[in-house]
Amino acid sequence: MTSNPDYDVIVIGGGNAGMSAALTARECGASRVLVIEAAPEHSRGGNSRHVRNLRCMHDQALGVFQDSYLESEYWEDLLQVTGGRTNEDLARLTIRESEACFRWMMQQGVRFQPALGGTLQLSRTNAFFLGGGKALLNSYYRKAAAIGIDVIYESPVTGITIEDGKVQSVDVTKDGQVKTFQTRALVIASGGFQANIDWLREAWGPAADNFIIRGSPFDDGKVLRLLMDAGATITGDPDQCHAIAVDARAPKFDAGIVSRVDCVSLGIVVNQEAKRFYDEGEDFWPKRYAIWGRLIAAQPDQIAYAIIDAKSSGLYLPPLTPSIMGNSIEELAKALSLDPTTLKQTINSFNLAIEMGEFDHTILDNCHTSGLTPEKTHWARTIDSPPFMAYPLRPGITFTYMGVVVNEQARVMFNDNKLSPNIYAAGEIMAGNILGKGYLAGLGMTIGTTFGRISGREAASHAG
Ligand SMILES: Cc1cc2nc3c(=O)[nH]c(=O)nc-3n(C[C@H](O)[C@H](O)[C@H](O)COP(=O)(O)OP(=O)(O)OC[C@H]3O[C@@H](n4cnc5c(N)ncnc54)[C@H](O)[C@@H]3O)c2cc1C
Repeated sequence: MTSNPDYDVIVIGGGNAGMSAALTARECGASRVLVIEAAPEHSRGGNSRHVRNLRCMHDQALGVFQDSYLESEYWEDLLQVTGGRTNEDLARLTIRESEACFRWMMQQGVRFQPALGGTLQLSRTNAFFLGGGKALLNSYYRKAAAIGIDVIYESPVTGITIEDGKVQSVDVTKDGQVKTFQTRALVIASGGFQANIDWLREAWGPAADNFIIRGSPFDDGKVLRLLMDAGATITGDPDQCHAIAVDARAPKFDAGIVSRVDCVSLGIVVNQEAKRFYDEGEDFWPKRYAIWGRLIAAQPDQIAYAIIDAKSSGLYLPPLTPSIMGNSIEELAKALSLDPTTLKQTINSFNLAIEMGEFDHTILDNCHTSGLTPEKTHWARTIDSPPFMAYPLRPGITFTYMGVVVNEQARVMFNDNKLSPNIYAAGEIMAGNILGKGYLAGLGMTIGTTFGRISGREAASHAG
């Protein structure tokens, strides 16, 4: 590398984590900062275009947040969903930094609104972006232009020269031409590898062909592969991911939030044999929605059906595609191509097993089944009021967890536990340090902003 490289800091990926890094690097004094984005300008920002909210700790009411959400409770919530598969130091760092992230985002021009109603009860823990992820990204990119950060679009990174864990340069391929940029420091924020179906197939087998990818087709893991080839240490299992139940009729990529099906806890879910397979009322939906993609992935042909009756109408955020309806269970079964006799048996047994309490979807109520396998432990109500409604479900992959190991300064670890002197990672590509499994709504943005800001600060300091 020459003594005067092209850039002080290069950031790969222009989503939330990458833009948090680029803006912070500039704030911290790096004068020449470049963001390299694979997507065209109109679809810049990867999965971050689709987000709605940020999870944040706070000791008392703060902005749009009600009451308090203390570090201890946040940590307990994370411990519960991950089953302990988390790096406590990095997780606690993320939790403690979350309040500063909220304030910093507002300084970048991001605006928040209180939690929306519906099946996700988040008013204490999560703040919603006014205008969603697109508005968030527009604020970042506006600020980046104002403070002189360079951005190039439609420029996938296809090579990185790394010597002994130290970056020298980055290759970008545009219009068939390779261009090389030298840099003092590199932040990698290129997302997960969920859009790479071949890679998913390595982990999941042929089931991966039935997965729907909720976000960007540009998050294909090519940069993660470059890092692995260069000897970066990897954390997380390749089949661990955030995966929810989405409408099976959604497009293969990029449908975003509107394909999510939120009525699971209000009714029952059956597989293509018309049989139930899991407790639909195990816990509040924000704590359980992210297990359903995996559960459906384990069912025959990776398909399932959420079934509710007229009593649940209006109690959940409806997805974009209308429900499939029937005036009787037989009619519904026919419309879903399920065996009517089995579906009737499943629903009859469910109805008979219900011990009715006082239905209240805002608390863990006392409406449950007894003597059924699997039980439904809350919000169990008979399915007997026509019209009956159903949504076909597929696993909807949000993002994969396997990624590179980082330390508290976001430095990437290479073979022999050597930390890179000038390569940092933020966002989905390192989320597996904190999320070994499971998920908490809004945590993706907290991890990305926390480690984006840390990596921007550290990269600027290294370059300076
Ligand atoms: C539908 C949906 C809803 C979500 N809602 C929420 C929510 O409300 N709250 C929450 O916390 N999380 C949410 N998430 C998860 C959240 O999107 C991610 O955790 C977060 O946005 C990740 O940010 P990131 O910057 O790491 O990745 P991304 O935002 O995906 O950015 C990665 C960027 O890297 C670019 N890139 C990839 N490969 C290359 C390459 N080779 N060269 C150059 N650039 C490359 C991509 O084009 C992309 O712009 C949601 C995800 C989806 C799909």
